[in-house]
Amino acid sequence: MDFQASKTTSVTEFFGIYEMTVRRWREEEELKEFNSIRATPTSVFPLVDLLQHASQIYTLHLFRVFEKEFGLATGTRAAIIQFEDSTLLYRVHTGGNEGLSHHVTYDCGNHLTDCTCRKYQVMGIICSHIIRVLHMHSVKEIPTAYIRRRCTKFAKTEV
Ligand SMILES: [Zn+2]
Repeated sequence: MDFQASKTTSVTEFFGIYEMTVRRWREEEELKEFNSIRATPTSVFPLVDLLQHASQIYTLHLFRVFEKEFGLATGTRAAIIQFEDSTLLYRVHTGGNEGLSHHVTYDCGNHLTDCTCRKYQVMGIICSHIIRVLHMHSVKEIPTAYIRRRCTKFAKTEV
């Protein structure tokens, strides 16, 4: 039933209808969220390693954001420009020779990484440049340091 109130509806009836409508909206939202959490997304890319991990932890919406970054990563080129202890510094190029480049640091020991584009700090999802470097090092899962709980399917569940 949609929200309906006519001129003859009393205040009590109005609030009754209002409460029922709001309750129904909430139930529909909860159902959508429940289905979104249970859904296994499909992808044009094989769902393995980083992408598979993303499909297991992110909501469908954020999985699509990650998938887009993953797709962009396939079009980048990376070169090591510095190596110190266990930390590597990469220049990651996007869009061919005329395109932009960003610097990504990667620590082989603990998988900690950072990128000059700072997309992770803004969006909470690792950027295509970091994905490129993780992929090159055959990292199979998104390091836990880069998974913000509020971005995951488990944001509203108990620990
Ligand atoms: Zn980046």
